[in-house]
Amino acid sequence: MQQLSQFPRVSLAHRPTPLERLPNLSRELARAHLFVKRDDCTGLAMGGNKVRQLEFYFGEALAADATVVLITGAVQSNFVRCTAAAAAKTGLRCVIQLEDRVKGMGFEYHESGNVLLDHVLGAELHTYPEGEDEAGADRSLDDLANSLRDEGQRPYVVHLAGNHPPLGALAYVEAAEEILTQMSAHDVDLGSVIVASGSAQTHAGLLVGFHAQERADVAVHGVCVRRDASAQAERVLKCARATEKLLGCGRRVRDQDVLVTDKYLGPGYGRLTPETQDAIRTAARLEGLLLDPVYTGKAFAHFLGSIRENALGDQSAAIFLHTGGTPALFAYRGLVDDAQIARG
Ligand SMILES: *Cc1c(COP(=O)(O)O)cnc(C)c1O
Repeated sequence: MQQLSQFPRVSLAHRPTPLERLPNLSRELARAHLFVKRDDCTGLAMGGNKVRQLEFYFGEALAADATVVLITGAVQSNFVRCTAAAAAKTGLRCVIQLEDRVKGMGFEYHESGNVLLDHVLGAELHTYPEGEDEAGADRSLDDLANSLRDEGQRPYVVHLAGNHPPLGALAYVEAAEEILTQMSAHDVDLGSVIVASGSAQTHAGLLVGFHAQERADVAVHGVCVRRDASAQAERVLKCARATEKLLGCGRRVRDQDVLVTDKYLGPGYGRLTPETQDAIRTAARLEGLLLDPVYTGKAFAHFLGSIRENALGDQSAAIFLHTGGTPALFAYRGLVDDAQIARG
């Protein structure tokens, strides 16, 4: 899409990521044309969807001549880890704030997985005691930024709440086009894409992207990982509007295009459910695909459920968007053992 070239950008991701068939799953579920889009393979520091998104944030940070980048997120945030890596790569300082969003977790959750990588990548760590106060977390981050400014630094803040321009969604406007180009090599029409929906930038970007390519018929199914379906639908639509505004492409996405389910949310953000455990096991054992407990495990559970219920039709292609998160698997080892995933 032409308008994307007007935004400052830093190249961070391996693109295009592979689009692969899922032959064993297809056989198992007797459903042809199942694909996985491997955005877990974006390359930088174990990859994931945030690497694509950060190309635009770091573009803006470098254009503003920033010396330090700040970001907030859950303890096992992939966004935070990828930001630490992008800062290292672009020669910027990185200050991260980890929120206590998933209570009652043990040592590995707090020290291993993404947290271990944050340390290895040289980020400066702060903590925030709350987990469900987005505006508060952003304010606390702004306070940190202000004290750095007083020290003569030029901070750039990646905000969490939905009231900031969704630069990350731009990356998925482009990814929608990438997916359609890759699909054209296969002799089947694209019907649906299944994706975890958190901040909603990935979900909203895809919606805007498919509409921009005159493919409003592609159903983008968002799987809630943090909020219930009605709160998430509202967030997705708001993010799609803000993305359309950034691009100046007019309102294309309609209310009824926003599809979300909270069927696999379970007790909430970062909480494993039996369906998630089953999805992680199925993907690993049938296709050698490693999912994560927070996002892709839940999204894949919905993918499996929808295919079993024949809710995605059977003539068109269905794509599972693997958004990464692999490091978090190590932070959940105890839960994985409890769930007997390791033993089967
Ligand atoms: C952040 C994240 C998501 C959700 O993407 P959003 O753009 O925030 O909705 C999905 N999967 C993984 C692994 C993530 O880290």
